[in-house]
Amino acid sequence: MKWIAFLLVLTWSCTSSEPEEVSGPVDLAARPGKGGIMLQGFYWDVEPRHQWWKHVERKLGEWQELGVDRIWLPPVSKGMSGGYSMGYDPMDYFDLGEYDQMGTVPTRFGTRAELNSLIKAAHERKMEVIADIVLNHNSGGQLEYNPFRNKDTYTLFTPASGRFPRKAEHFHPNAIHEKDAEALFFEEQDLCHEHPQVKKWFWESDSSVAKYYKHTVGFDGWRFDYVKGFSPDVVKSWMQAVGGFGVLEVWDGNTDYLRSWVEKTGIKAFDFANFYNMEQAFDGNNLQLLMDRRALWKELPEQAVTFVNNHDTEKDTQQGNRIGSAVNRMLAYAYIFTHPGYPCLFYSDYEKLLDKKKIARLVQIHRVLAKGKVNVLFADANHYIAQRTGEDGSPGLLLHLNNSAQNVKREVITPWKNAVIYDYSENSTQTVRTDAQGRAEITTASQSYSVWSLKNF
Ligand code: ZN
Ligand code: ZN
Repeated sequence: MKWIAFLLVLTWSCTSSEPEEVSGPVDLAARPGKGGIMLQGFYWDVEPRHQWWKHVERKLGEWQELGVDRIWLPPVSKGMSGGYSMGYDPMDYFDLGEYDQMGTVPTRFGTRAELNSLIKAAHERKMEVIADIVLNHNSGGQLEYNPFRNKDTYTLFTPASGRFPRKAEHFHPNAIHEKDAEALFFEEQDLCHEHPQVKKWFWESDSSVAKYYKHTVGFDGWRFDYVKGFSPDVVKSWMQAVGGFGVLEVWDGNTDYLRSWVEKTGIKAFDFANFYNMEQAFDGNNLQLLMDRRALWKELPEQAVTFVNNHDTEKDTQQGNRIGSAVNRMLAYAYIFTHPGYPCLFYSDYEKLLDKKKIARLVQIHRVLAKGKVNVLFADANHYIAQRTGEDGSPGLLLHLNNSAQNVKREVITPWKNAVIYDYSENSTQTVRTDAQGRAEITTASQSYSVWSLKNF
């Protein structure tokens, strides 16, 4: 009897301007949304050797369910270090684990047959497979007399595949270019991309690397390694020859410089400007930088591939090129998954370091709620609050990053008036009611984040 009376009091206390009690929260996984994520499908020195393609193939089902629509693989061709190579020392672009050279038939990642099987399985799951393309330099040549240097250099390449043989004239300096100012490493094996044979073998001929990888191996797109080492025209020519998804590794925090590469090539770039902003914001306890600093996604959102960590940053020892702690990486993922840009998830962060359920929630938030314009509502050293305005039936979201040592309750102005909102990050299971102005009091745990939207929509 007492219980019923209590319920009645509650009902009477509702004013007419308040909504009916809403059901929900919305099951984001069941909602149509738009926008997958890329997964970097490797880390530095993957183990065990020769098993990686099989391992990745076994992971495909889980990654598809997570919302991954593209998988970036390490360079697939035989390198100088043979079965130990991570692929960034290319020797034979047409040996994908099928010829006995550099001391091994399979690459570090496995055999050609296993690579074929992986790509086929990914395509059956409607996932694109992205090749890591190393065009700047080669390794693993034999010693020969180099007339351009007047000494012996390791520039004689006689690949077992028989395709793309090279010698001194294909590298700098040669008859075309005396030197390449950007040849910062592998200086004696720095390819000349204007040599007719190099152009022919890379993208021009029907048996070029580009056409073989696209039409025979089945790759859907490209991650161009170390493009600072050559001209944007190289990438442009490659894309004109084969098309597909393309993203540049322009390792530079300068937004103007990133933009110039994107504009000259017409493809996307990893947002290193945003990466450095996040590194300094989270590791340096200054979240205001997220608001104040330029980034590629703020200016060319369709061309920005945002990321938190990769195979290079994970092994940085200086800390300045790495978002250090698991807590800060989680905050950084909360930031990129709720903001514009195409996010890339790093293998080890997902598989080893972070809570898979939290990442999965963020991927769903990215797909369903992270829509519309960005308005930053507040930023200081420890807090960052931003809103996505929503579009096409998506109500948008409100993100609060709390990098302080305290749980914090804050009053925020949401766009939702007299509404029930819910923390879709599920770091809490809070339901909060907004007033007629959209005001709400939200709580976010220490060194954590909350992502609010309508509980029902
Ligand atoms: Zn050249
Ligand atoms: Zn750091």
